[in-house]
Amino acid sequence: MPRAIYLDHAATTPVATEAVSAMTKCLEDPLRFANPSSIHAAGQAAASEEKHAREQVANLIGADPATLLWTSGATEANNLAILGGARFRAHRGRHLVTMRTEHKAVVDPFKALEKNGYEVTWLTPDAGGLLSFDELRAAIRNDTQLVSIMHVNNETGVIQDVGAIGELCREHDVLYHCDAAQSAGKLPLDVMSAKIDLLSLTAHKFYGPPGIGALYIANRDGCGVEPILYGGGQQRRLRPGTLPVHLIAGCGAAAGLMANNRSRNLAHVQKLYEVLWDGIKGLPDIFLNGNAEQHFPGILNVSAAGVEGESLLLALEPLCVASGSACNSLSSEPSYVLRALGRSDQLAQSAIRFSFGHDTALKDIEFARDRYISAVRRLREVAPPAHQDSRA
Ligand SMILES: *Cc1c(COP(=O)(O)O)cnc(C)c1O
Repeated sequence: MPRAIYLDHAATTPVATEAVSAMTKCLEDPLRFANPSSIHAAGQAAASEEKHAREQVANLIGADPATLLWTSGATEANNLAILGGARFRAHRGRHLVTMRTEHKAVVDPFKALEKNGYEVTWLTPDAGGLLSFDELRAAIRNDTQLVSIMHVNNETGVIQDVGAIGELCREHDVLYHCDAAQSAGKLPLDVMSAKIDLLSLTAHKFYGPPGIGALYIANRDGCGVEPILYGGGQQRRLRPGTLPVHLIAGCGAAAGLMANNRSRNLAHVQKLYEVLWDGIKGLPDIFLNGNAEQHFPGILNVSAAGVEGESLLLALEPLCVASGSACNSLSSEPSYVLRALGRSDQLAQSAIRFSFGHDTALKDIEFARDRYISAVRRLREVAPPAHQDSRA
């Protein structure tokens, strides 16, 4: 059995050694394991760990540390932002705007709100996955309260212009929520200059542990959320529950690493992307899913005409990559994100998402490139498509 090659960083990243040490320290230290709400010495030692981590995460997005709430990850942060933000502003109006290509953790809270008397406008991106500003501007009405549009798409890597969206939303006094799970720590991101009101992130997409994330809530009039969980008084009652200080410390350590190495990391994944895509694009009838210019280089999503997705995934072993129905790999439904870009069922279903990071070696990307090329050639030979479906 050849060694597995992990190219699924958009699903989760490996945990950095520094994050593991920070977590172990909290769990093993005779003081730091304590509940940070306690006023005794042990509680205060834990509280100071938490404060340090909060500063590191706030620094990643240019936020005041006091504006962050810890959550269990981006799913919870998105739910709190969308359900909580819509309820906070419900007395002003009940219209909301989002895109069809958002993560399920954004799509599904909006669907829940639709069942509860809110109206949602679902914007469709262009064929490259980009938002049309004219359509966003046209969608905003007098009763619009919240717009949710992600930074980097988890399937295609397409980057939306969050600064332009923030500007437009602020102009119309609409809350702007941004799911930044794929970009936090990897791309420059500044909540103040981009005029973002609510921002979700999660540690396990930037080399921290799973189970911890944060929601940024801008400190300005008219911006806020109603809680979706009720309990103790922690975190201004907006997100009660005892804080998992070890996870928080791991998240902080990972955030610190990302902040210190961002441009070097980005240059490395850019180089890997070029090697992979330059090789693959030489094959006939290969389609890049997403935008060739405005994309995060750590994600490459490609479709091959006339190739069946599941066979391709098998033929790609030992590569750990995601398929066109990856995010819900329990179903073989073609990805709704790729369908929203106008891809045919066949092309969406043949899609492979390679996602990698600063820890990925060049030789592994070269291996992946060669494996993909030979797998597509071989599958096309054994089962030549009756007619090539080359609709772009
Ligand atoms: C991974 C991801 C999420 C979900 O994050 P969890 O921390 O796993 O809940 C949400 N949005 C995007 C864009 C993601 O990539």
